[in-house]
Amino acid sequence: MHDNTLLPAIESAELIWRDGVPESARFGDVYFSRDNGLEETRYVFLQHNGLPDRFRAVPHRGNFVIAESGFGTGLNFLAAWQAWRDSAPDHAATFHFVSVERFPLTAADLKKALALWPELSELANQLLDAYPPLVQGTHRLIFDGGRVRLTLYFGDVLEAWNLLNFHADAWFLDGFAPSLNPEMWLEEAISLIRKHSKPGTTLATFTAVGRIRRALIDAGFTMSKQPGFGRKRDMLAGLLPGEAGRPGCHRQGAVAVIGAGIAGCLLARNLAERGLDVLLFDGAAEPASGASGNLQGASYVKLGVEFNDQTQLALSALLFSQHYYQPFTGRFWHPTGLLQLAWNPREADRQNRFIERNQYPADILRAVSRQEASTLTGLQTFSGGLWFPGSGWLQPGPLCRALADHPRIRAEFGANVSRCLRQGEQWLVETANNAQYETISVVLCCGDKTPELLPDGKRYRFKRIRGQVSHLDAETARLPNAVICGQKYLNPGHDGIAVTGATFDLHDDTPVPTTQGHLENLTNVGDMAHDLFQPDQVPERMAKEIQGRVAFRCTTHDYQPVAGPVADTRRDTVQTGLYTLTGLGSKGLTYAPLLAEYLADRLSEQPECLPQNLSRRLASERMIKN
Ligand code: SAM
Repeated sequence: MHDNTLLPAIESAELIWRDGVPESARFGDVYFSRDNGLEETRYVFLQHNGLPDRFRAVPHRGNFVIAESGFGTGLNFLAAWQAWRDSAPDHAATFHFVSVERFPLTAADLKKALALWPELSELANQLLDAYPPLVQGTHRLIFDGGRVRLTLYFGDVLEAWNLLNFHADAWFLDGFAPSLNPEMWLEEAISLIRKHSKPGTTLATFTAVGRIRRALIDAGFTMSKQPGFGRKRDMLAGLLPGEAGRPGCHRQGAVAVIGAGIAGCLLARNLAERGLDVLLFDGAAEPASGASGNLQGASYVKLGVEFNDQTQLALSALLFSQHYYQPFTGRFWHPTGLLQLAWNPREADRQNRFIERNQYPADILRAVSRQEASTLTGLQTFSGGLWFPGSGWLQPGPLCRALADHPRIRAEFGANVSRCLRQGEQWLVETANNAQYETISVVLCCGDKTPELLPDGKRYRFKRIRGQVSHLDAETARLPNAVICGQKYLNPGHDGIAVTGATFDLHDDTPVPTTQGHLENLTNVGDMAHDLFQPDQVPERMAKEIQGRVAFRCTTHDYQPVAGPVADTRRDTVQTGLYTLTGLGSKGLTYAPLLAEYLADRLSEQPECLPQNLSRRLASERMIKN
């Protein structure tokens, strides 16, 4: 990282505009040709990678992956995406673009740079809408209803190629001239390019420097010099010899997703949008009947003072979820903003240290005074806190129902899965009424029921937590304009009802709401603001009268989620075709979109949206008792 920038912020590009073309002040080179950047991209990168012809040949359910060094203005991505749109096969096939950028353009510069290409404006506007805040790490952007994905790593190229999991079909090597930016062209970077390639992978680059050509030949590529674009004499094209497989082609058959809570519904939808068939099971008559079944839930994460893996995962999940839910705004998603109150001296101290040691863009979060907190939430809060302008609250029930409604999802509700058996190359899913289903893989998304379906399930360190929420109504309480989180959370409410809670009971199995649980919620929420309850309301009396709900959430021994293949407790391997996504505790609404995306990447053999340092932490191996 560079001098004055605290994590997770990342230093942005400094552009100089000469004759209407952006140049990097840091590297002294242009982002694209002065002659015609778009034509250069089409000639150098598309044509010399055999595109768009190779797009046309992507098989049913196949996936084509381009990797690029140097995202810059995103021109190459947009040109490739446009070519994909114009020539992609009609059947289910997907396109994935992986790119890295150490000095991302600000959104304003990106907008100015992309305005140069009116013929790309529709795609450019979508990229601008989805362009992430400038924080380091992996960003996953989804376009065209899930047929196009961009994995954008903000950080150094070596870090990216060391941490990301993917295999490219074609490479765009575009990192400024090697003489001006040798770091982009180190031998280590070139050997990582080889590592992320498969037999038949091609590459193209605008440079024809001898050292680069030799390094690529040493790495195993067959290289050829080609006439350069415009004023450039030469460029290079390369091929990794060997028989090209069919790009990312996967097996026929359905994936079984067991559990139709937020995790299962998001995963089922995600897979379906990638062209996979899904069988979605739940013992209840409709989705979101368990821990995801509260009327409302807050989208909330706690970001650590240290910017470690756990914080990075929480941040990625937060940003991904906010974007994922955006199309549901006003229906099930209400991005009212969210205040994390400095509700006691310890939390106030933690927040102070957090602000001193980190640098977050203000569109993610900022510290606010008590007065500002009160203005933002509409209640006289007892303290200030951290304000997350893009956060808010969700209605998980209708959201899950909408997600499960897709032609490639066959929902089996009222179907209690009793066991899952591996049988040859298939999985056999059996329900309590003896129905059987053959599937290619199984994903357990069944929260606190997961251990029952896992082979040797008792050996995993799952925890079951009772959570009771209480329903406040506008007659007894003043409801806020934004979500407030302190010891508990309080939502702004819908139709005059606002959900608050939840309790966190590790040793209580009571399946129905209790007065004691309501009293705990009301007391905690009452500590957030002076004017929350009407003066004549006493929590002790309200606790006896109000409504609520109890659900049992699933968490793990380290309170981190689990997502990935299921570890085999007997051997040092994983169970073929068996996966899980659970242990989300009370953070499911925020973590589930990103983790479903990650699991869908694995199941569809696409580039993964999580760098290895984060995906390792989600692995189920860590949960096995010795
Ligand atoms: N492909 C881009 C486009 O379509 O606009 C142009 C890429 S520009 C020629 C090279 C990019 O590589 C710059 O945006 C630069 O910031 C980035 N870059 C330079 N050194 C880097 C490094 N070590 N790691 C990652 N990115 C780097």
